[in-house]
Amino acid sequence: MPNSRNVLISGASIAGPALAYWLQRNGLRPTVVERAPAPRPGGNGVDLRGASIGIAERMGILPTLRARATDIRDLVFVDAAGDIAATIPTSSFNAPGDLEIRRGDLSEALHAATGDVEYRYDDTVNSLTQQPDGVAVTFGSGREEMYDLVVGADGLHSRVRNLAVIPEAEATHHLGYYFAVGEVEPDFTAPGAVTLYNEPGRAAGVYRSAAHQDATAIFFFREPLALDFDHHDREAQIALLRRYLDSDGWHVRELVDAAAASAGFYLDAVSQIRIPHWTSGRVALVGDAGYCATLLSGAGATLALEGAHRLAIELAATADHRVAFARYEAAMRPIVTKRQRATRVSGALLVPAARSHIRLRNRLAKLLTTEPIAAALFRQSSSRAA
Ligand SMILES: Cc1cc2nc3c(=O)[nH]c(=O)nc-3n(C[C@H](O)[C@H](O)[C@H](O)COP(=O)(O)OP(=O)(O)OC[C@H]3O[C@@H](n4cnc5c(N)ncnc54)[C@H](O)[C@@H]3O)c2cc1C
Repeated sequence: MPNSRNVLISGASIAGPALAYWLQRNGLRPTVVERAPAPRPGGNGVDLRGASIGIAERMGILPTLRARATDIRDLVFVDAAGDIAATIPTSSFNAPGDLEIRRGDLSEALHAATGDVEYRYDDTVNSLTQQPDGVAVTFGSGREEMYDLVVGADGLHSRVRNLAVIPEAEATHHLGYYFAVGEVEPDFTAPGAVTLYNEPGRAAGVYRSAAHQDATAIFFFREPLALDFDHHDREAQIALLRRYLDSDGWHVRELVDAAAASAGFYLDAVSQIRIPHWTSGRVALVGDAGYCATLLSGAGATLALEGAHRLAIELAATADHRVAFARYEAAMRPIVTKRQRATRVSGALLVPAARSHIRLRNRLAKLLTTEPIAAALFRQSSSRAA
């Protein structure tokens, strides 16, 4: 009975619930464990494009997602005085039918679709021991259980990946940028836009959907070195942001202060996960845990949904997880590689390295958004199949 297998999924954001849905629909028995104490609302905007739209449609959640979509029409570049230097409509990046939604709203819709799947919040995998007939799992809560398969859907800093597939230091490829985010008052900018101010090698901006009341500050800085800081040390992260975004231009100081004081503040390297295998024994990785493409790709949610769907379909098709895992990797690898490559243009566009590059970007903005240049530059990695 290939489909009566029980599967532990670590992570309940996008890839986790999507995988749970497709596994359950195919008769497998998923359980989801999530480190956070409860579902996390809001969050950054994520994009669904190409095949992931068809997957959402087959899950019956597309109308909900469209109703809750964000409304960001323009990417607006401003100068130090706040005057508009250039505008790029988001339609240049998106194909008709693509949608952007807040991560928490997508996650909530996915949870709702999974019906009676068990979600265990405030717990985490502590150890994984692979055995011939299953995986012995111990949890932070002290619980000990056996699973036929374990899947890490636990994001960029995946513990499952670290425990069973490859250490984080070998999996992570720093792209030379850092980013930080935090909630701010919406009155810094007009609604319906991402407004961005650049100085050479750094950027500060505000993301403000016209369909929502809140706003998020977003910062980037270029730093080729992998900085040594503790991901759980908020004060160290704030100090880094203040050091790299030390500027009197536009609203940078106010934005840094407001973001640093907000509950959702965090800073991280813009790092991709590039590893030779997404599976090891009875353990597999899906979404950012296996192949984070970064926020510069605009492809993270799409890959999470496509990967979860593909993995579930392959597991349902055969009792031999080794065959299923090999097919999953073969199907997803070319898609991931293409999307991971697509970050170069957005990095240069959002965080130009020199003042001359900022001027050039602003002058070329109009040209960049004309067809077919926009299609070639920004939409090259969009997969059209549904
Ligand atoms: C600021 C920002 C902007 C972004 N912008 C975009 C965008 O415009 N478009 C786009 O498509 N994507 C964007 N992304 C990327 C997108 O958010 C991710 O690619 C997507 O959320 C990946 O989903 P996931 O389920 O694989 O992982 P995640 O969303 O990272 O979820 C991982 C889950 O695992 C949980 N977890 C972590 N560790 C453990 C553990 N040890 N035990 C149990 N649970 C654990 C976490 O709490 C979380 O719920 C952005 C990301 C950021 C940070």
